[in-house]
Amino acid sequence: MSVLKFCKKCKIYTLKDVCKLCGENTVTPHPPRFSPEDRFGKYRRKLKLEILKARGEI
Ligand SMILES: [Zn+2]
Repeated sequence: MSVLKFCKKCKIYTLKDVCKLCGENTVTPHPPRFSPEDRFGKYRRKLKLEILKARGEI
């Protein structure tokens, strides 16, 4: 298991499902509720466009 988990109580990262310090269930720091790629894809494309414009390539 290579997914890094986080204990909200101790504010530490661990590879375990349960915190070794307090025994609380750990959580995945970045829940895959949405796709970051999709969210930033639009912005990234816009940024690329701005860079090309700034260079005078378009
Ligand atoms: Zn803990």
